Amino acid sequence: MITYLKMKTQNTVTAKKRLNISPIEEWPIYKQRPLVIAGPCSAESEEQVMRTAAGLAASGRVDLFRAGIWKPRTRPDQFEGVGSMGLAWLRKVREEYGLPVSVEVATEKHVYEALKHGLDAVWIGARTSVNPFALNEIAAALKGADIMVFIKNPINPDLELWIGAVERISKAGISRIAAIHRGFSSWEKSSFRNQPRWQIAVELRQRIPDLGLLCDPSHMGGDRSFIVDLSQKAMDLNYDGLMIETHIDPSNALSDKKQQVTPSELVEILDSLILRSPTSDNPEFLETIEDLRSQIDVYDNLLLDILESRMQVAETIGRFKKEHNITILQSTRWKEVVGNAVEKGVRKGLTPEFIHTILEAIHQESITHQMKVMKED
Ligand code: PEP
Ligand code: MN
Repeated sequence: MITYLKMKTQNTVTAKKRLNISPIEEWPIYKQRPLVIAGPCSAESEEQVMRTAAGLAASGRVDLFRAGIWKPRTRPDQFEGVGSMGLAWLRKVREEYGLPVSVEVATEKHVYEALKHGLDAVWIGARTSVNPFALNEIAAALKGADIMVFIKNPINPDLELWIGAVERISKAGISRIAAIHRGFSSWEKSSFRNQPRWQIAVELRQRIPDLGLLCDPSHMGGDRSFIVDLSQKAMDLNYDGLMIETHIDPSNALSDKKQQVTPSELVEILDSLILRSPTSDNPEFLETIEDLRSQIDVYDNLLLDILESRMQVAETIGRFKKEHNITILQSTRWKEVVGNAVEKGVRKGLTPEFIHTILEAIHQESITHQMKVMKED
């Protein structure tokens, strides 16, 4: 445990030393939490871009306008964006409405184009942050530029790859870098388009504390009905901001139509969020929370004691099986254990997923302990 904590502290320190990242609260576009990035999935026409931007500017709730012009689509016959022509529309948005503007970049050519048109920010999409070659190319093209860079999580749940992308951009001399959590793709069916796996983003924050963290509930949920809940969850986890796809006419959008909202729906979503502050200096609050936390510590210690005893029994079983020449894995018995525990756990208000996860981990650890004793002479 201690070694692990030490390792984490060292990681944090190393990352901090190496990366010169400007905290998002100090960026000129930041006014308050949540920082809001909004705009259509894709720029489709000058009129659609300008009308969406007009709605967003009038709301006064948006800090950065977004629109994709080079779209990474799954299939080749889907709308792949209007290309460089959209950059002029984005400039017009900034001129007419005073909104800073951003675009997705995936190649060095995209970066040169974005820089040539003086965009305020770029974001690197999930299909690009997964690829170190692309990141190196983008970083080289961005070298020394005065621009904000948002880095979405890679499509697969690999924290090191996400950190690697941040490091590559940071090494190019960019200090205004923030991360966007948009969830991870998975073969398994789930209600969300991309699985959140919140702990990966939370771990990123622990590893690079200065790195701003936003959530993209549009791509995470894949459906506008999930945006409120996912945004609230992000706020409860103290994220700095949100990227929400907004379109003047979502049902006719050329990409991601199910997940886009209108500018007025965006305002409703933002109004519904409850913003809790991460700390308080109210003495009564502090005293109660301290008391509750010490109760948690008691239970956590009890859990560890129970797990220790559990593993001691597993080792005894391991020795016993060894004496009788019996295999470690006995799946019928294990299925029975899980089935009973799920039933019992659900009655206690625990979710079946949680019980499965925790029992799976305990089972693995048991096997490790049994293997250890099986190998003993
Ligand atoms: C986007 O923001 O339009 C986009 C393509 O996102 P992602 O990389 O998260 O799929
Ligand atoms: Mn999209």
